[in-house]
Amino acid sequence: MAVEGFKEISIQACLNCGRVFFRNKWVIFPDLATAVKSCAKERIKLSKKDELELVPVLDKIYPVKGKQEFEIIANINNEEFALPARISFVTCDKCARAKTKYYEAILQIRDSNDEIVSFAKNEIAKLSDKGVFITDSEMFKDGADFKLTSKAAARAVANRLRDKFGGQLTITAKIFSVSKETSKEIYRLIILFNAPTIKKGDKITFKGEQIKVVYVGKKIQAIGTNGKRMTLQHKDLKHYMSK
Ligand SMILES: [Zn+2]
Repeated sequence: MAVEGFKEISIQACLNCGRVFFRNKWVIFPDLATAVKSCAKERIKLSKKDELELVPVLDKIYPVKGKQEFEIIANINNEEFALPARISFVTCDKCARAKTKYYEAILQIRDSNDEIVSFAKNEIAKLSDKGVFITDSEMFKDGADFKLTSKAAARAVANRLRDKFGGQLTITAKIFSVSKETSKEIYRLIILFNAPTIKKGDKITFKGEQIKVVYVGKKIQAIGTNGKRMTLQHKDLKHYMSK
């Protein structure tokens, strides 16, 4: 037999998100069969010239908590073997975090409106595949606080907000504990996004001229009394921004 041996094939899958524990990480696979094959290949030692084809028999596997046994039909150099395998459905650490109040960053949105808050929520939702979640939130008249499981994601969403709506970012780091293993300080980020207080439709006097704001984004577009369109920077209108 060409098979030098194989170690027990034991697979862990997350009940909630479907990630599978592979090479010490929770990984998203296109489907469970692909995940099982990848995990099994790690366990089967073959020489380079051996040909291997794997067919996991998953028709009796149900996504319920606990261990289930199944077989993987392995075709090795045209010889078939039934390899015993087991799968445990658990909650991965990413999903476990989502259920707790764990957070690394607070994204604070202020001077804002429903459109901006919905946009932020949407951007965060797009990152759920990467294990980014809102673990707590608070709504305000002019914005919201979102507690997020990732600092990098909070930064990314804040940058998207500023790029789309203009406004200002203020980032503060706060130490909240010290790691027992590395004795490094662990910190959280507080990212404050202030939306521009200048809104579409505002009429203001700019350099002695009445202008009407027609668009607010990274830059501001306005129309002057003579119908001339102008593009302004947020800093040009800074003294109009304070309430
Ligand atoms: Zn999960």
